[in-house]
This record gives sequence, structure tokens and C-alpha cells, in this order.
Amino acid sequence: RTAVLLFTRDLRLHDNPGLDLARRSAERVVPLFVLHEGLRFAVPNRTRFLSDCLADLRDGLRRRGGDLVIRRGDPVEETIRLARDQHAQTVVVARDVSRYAKRREERLAAACAEHRISLRTVDSVGVVPPGAVHPANGDHYKVFTPYWRAWSDTQWRDCHTVPRKITLPDGIDAGSLPAGDGAGGGETMARRRMSRWLAGGIADYPNRHDDLPGDATSRLSADLHFGCLSPVELATKAGAHEAYVRQLCWRDFHLQVTAAFPDLPTRDYRPRRQDWVDDPDALAAWRAGQTGYPIIDAGLRQLLAEGFMHNRARMLVASFLTKQLNVHWTAGANHFFDLLVDGDIANNAGNWQWIAGTGNDTRPNRQFNPLRQAYRFDPDGDYVRRYVPELASVPGAAVHEPWKFGGSPGYPSPLVAPRA
Ligand code: FAD
Repeated sequence: RTAVLLFTRDLRLHDNPGLDLARRSAERVVPLFVLHEGLRFAVPNRTRFLSDCLADLRDGLRRRGGDLVIRRGDPVEETIRLARDQHAQTVVVARDVSRYAKRREERLAAACAEHRISLRTVDSVGVVPPGAVHPANGDHYKVFTPYWRAWSDTQWRDCHTVPRKITLPDGIDAGSLPAGDGAGGGETMARRRMSRWLAGGIADYPNRHDDLPGDATSRLSADLHFGCLSPVELATKAGAHEAYVRQLCWRDFHLQVTAAFPDLPTRDYRPRRQDWVDDPDALAAWRAGQTGYPIIDAGLRQLLAEGFMHNRARMLVASFLTKQLNVHWTAGANHFFDLLVDGDIANNAGNWQWIAGTGNDTRPNRQFNPLRQAYRFDPDGDYVRRYVPELASVPGAAVHEPWKFGGSPGYPSPLVAPRA
């Protein structure tokens, strides 16, 4: 018997439910990844990371006697073509929450039924699968705290072991990998990052997660997004470090909201009271990190430079755009999605809506005061100086209010009047 395992964003050998199921349902397994070029998701920062993930996965599979078959085109058509060529009885794929992923699964189900192939699906994107816990009176949790309580009471599944051997049918053309340039993606690097984090930084996470210059968070978001790490394994190993496990629960929270409300990336989850403003110039200044607020510009420039932004900075720049400039959150979310290596439909839209006051925040009118936040989370101004070279020679916390000392050459004056 032969199974085709369609990898999507579960690009790992450790604790992979899809791989486990494929191996249990067939002697021969065809691990497949289909590059769907031209997709909105495929921006350069993420494609580079993905290329590394695929190269690493192929290495790991080859070491176990298998391979990673690469095809280009429509994932459903390519999967079915390969399954028919190989006379496969089974196709295995992980369930996912985005509109795109749901549609892919529906089309796969229809195509498999037409060709009398059995489609088997598994859960692997969250710790607790979306929909596995829900309130008595609804299909999903709308507020985090009750979700966290229910989630914490759930028994997580056991982790699957890494297969020693994978048997590939003879004579398959494996196809070429996309070109990579060492962007740091892939299971091998991700596991190193995870081990280092669990042995070190995690212990200080409750005290240091908001320390902007300290950069003391796990930086595992892209590894989790592409599934180079299993969220179940990470949460299990993080064990008693509740503050960290809680963040993994936030990730699951947005996954379950998106599963139930797939319009989340484009439509307000709840209406908000304040009106939106169409202001292309303000939006352009914000995107370029030229708002004249050093803490905001530092965050936005970190994103431009690294394809990453600290979570505290993400909150501040998002609040600034939606609550001070009153520009619709989708404009900011799109900019994030263009650049973030960890860009994730559910987490991005869920967090943007939370900040914009259209989402699940129980205090939708909350505003972050950028100055107070700057003095609190970047008390010596080091984060600003790292990303805003025009202010690099300004010492200490004075860097947060350049208008107080007449400004710095080349650095803009504030886009909106500063509030105390
Ligand atoms: P850590 O603090 O070490 O957290 C560990 C893990 O928990 C993260 O890797 C992430 O998977 C999860 N996590 C942490 N915070 C959140 C959160 N607020 N919501 C959901 N999951 C969380 N995260 C993404 O992965 N992709 C996105 O596209 C994304 N967009 C965001 C947009 C906005 C406006 C905001 C405010 C947050 C966004 N986040 C997003 C959440 C968070 O900022 C990042 O997950 C985090 O900064 C990644 O760094 P880390 O891995 O070091 O996080």
C-alpha cells in the first residue's frame, strides 16, 4: 500500500501526526510539498525561510531512506496526479484554519472521492486542535481568559516518535528544491533554538518578555508557523513555565477564532465606535518608520530590517496606527504580512483586531500611550538607538522625545501632537 503525505506547514519529522498516520496506513510513503507560486503568502522573507525548511526536511527524509518530492502548481491537482501515478490508496494532510487551507481540504476531499482515494486528515497546527474545546453556548471562545481555563484543563496528546525508516516507491522524480540562501529555517535549526530557549531564556520570560532592547523572547514564532516545531512538544517541554505556555495558548486562541470566523483577515470581527480615516500620507510615513515617534519608528524599522518585530513593539505600532491615526487595521496587517517571516493569517489578523478594538479585547477602547510605553519598556533608549540611526548619538531616555531638544537632523517631527 502507498500513501501520499501532503506537507503544508508541518515541516518536521519530530512529532508529526501526518507522518505517523501515513506510515501506519501504508508500507510506502510519498512525502510531497507543492510550491504554489504567486500566492499572497509567498513574499520574499517567508519564501526564503520556507526554502530552508524544505531543504532540511528533504535531508532528514533522505537520511531515513525517503525523500521529499517537490512539485510546483496547484496543490490539489499535483497531489492527485502523484497519488494516481503511484496508485496510492491514501492521501494524508493536516487540517488548517485559513480560508485557503479549508478550500484546499474541501477540493482534495472531492478529488479523492472522484478517484476512490481515501483522504485522511490530522490535527497538527495547535496544541489543542481548533474546535476541540468550545463553550456550551457557542462554537468558539470569544474571550481569552475562559478559553485559557478550558485549554489548561485539556489533556494534550502524547508526542509521536521520529520514524527510523521511510520507504519511498521506486522511480519517483523528486523534483528540485527552490533556491535557498541560509535564512535560518528548518527543523534542525528550530530544534537547536528550542533547546537553547528551554535551557536558558524561558526561566526569565515572566520578567523579561516586555524588555524591548533585551530581545528576551523565544523567537520561535516562524518555527511554529511553518511547523518546524510541534506546538504540542514545545508546550509539553515548557511544562511549568506558565507565562510562556500562556502565549502558546494565545496562538491556539486565534487559531480557533479563525476556524470559526474565516473572514477574520478581512472583516471586522466586531464593529467599533470610532470612525476610520483614509490618510495615505500618514500610512506611508507609518510604513516607512517615519512617524516622528522614535519608539514607533524603531519597531517599524526593525520589521523592515529583520522581518521580525518584538511583540511589545507590534502592539505599540498597531495601536498608534489604529487609535491615533485611525487608519483601518487591515492596512497595517497587510504591511506586517508583506514582511513578517512569522506572518500568520490567524495570529496577525487576530492581534490586529484585538488592538484595533474590533476583535476580542475585553477593553476595546484601550490605547497605548507611546511615550509612557517607551519609558517603561525601553528605559534607556537602547532599542530606539539600535534601529533609528538618526538618533544614535542621543544619550539615554532623552531619545524618546527628540522634539524636546529641537530634534535631530534627518529625523521627522511627530506626525500627531505628542500627549504627556
Ligand atoms: P514569545 O514571546 O517567545 O512567544 C512564544 C510563542 O507564543 C510565539 O512564538 C507565538 O507563536 C506565540 N505568541 C506569543 N504572543 C502571541 C500573541 N499575542 N498572539 C498569538 N500568539 C502569540 N505572531 C505570529 O506568529 N505571526 C503574526 O503574523 C503575528 N502578528 C502580530 C501582529 C500584531 C499587531 C501583534 C500585536 C502580534 C502579532 N503576533 C504574531 C504575536 C506576537 O507578536 C509574536 O508571535 C511574537 O512576537 C513572536 O516572537 P517570539 O516567538 O519571540 O514570542
